[in-house]
Amino acid sequence: MSQTERTFIAIKPDGVQRGLVSNIIGRFEKRGYKLVAIKLVQATEALLNEHYAEHVGKPFFPKMCNFMMSGPIVAMVWEGKDVVKQGRKMLGATNPQDSDMGTIRGDFGIDLGRNVCHGSDSVASAEREIKIWFNENEIVNWSANQSIWIYE
Ligand code: UDP
Repeated sequence: MSQTERTFIAIKPDGVQRGLVSNIIGRFEKRGYKLVAIKLVQATEALLNEHYAEHVGKPFFPKMCNFMMSGPIVAMVWEGKDVVKQGRKMLGATNPQDSDMGTIRGDFGIDLGRNVCHGSDSVASAEREIKIWFNENEIVNWSANQSIWIYE
């Protein structure tokens, strides 16, 4: 399994407003994943239509879009072995009511429309989403000295 797999993780406006940025970043850092891109973004309707293409036209979409544009989002790319699947596990189930304790949504969320974070659901989605949120030159290739203590 590739140690250079990448996923797109976002801290939604509720997570930023509630001061959860450092906690969420800290979980990925401490787990051993490598941060290769990060920025604070004000989402636009065009960007969200692209990012959530599969949900455009669904009844919840307009409200969800307004919420996603209500404040800044922390957009990130994290890299490491199996990071897409592991990242989803760290986030917890989409609805915080179903998320296990110890996951981000389970620890910090109550309502579906305020579930604090986003994570790509497959390697293909990750590649698609990273291209939507980041330019090529915003992603940094670097080697983490700690990798020999993370990977055997
Ligand atoms: N969502 C919502 N109402 C719904 C369904 C989804 O507000 O009825 C929001 C929810 O915050 C979710 C996002 O839309 O995180 C995207 O939904 P998806 O099923 O893709 O879940 P995710 O990939 O975020 O776990």
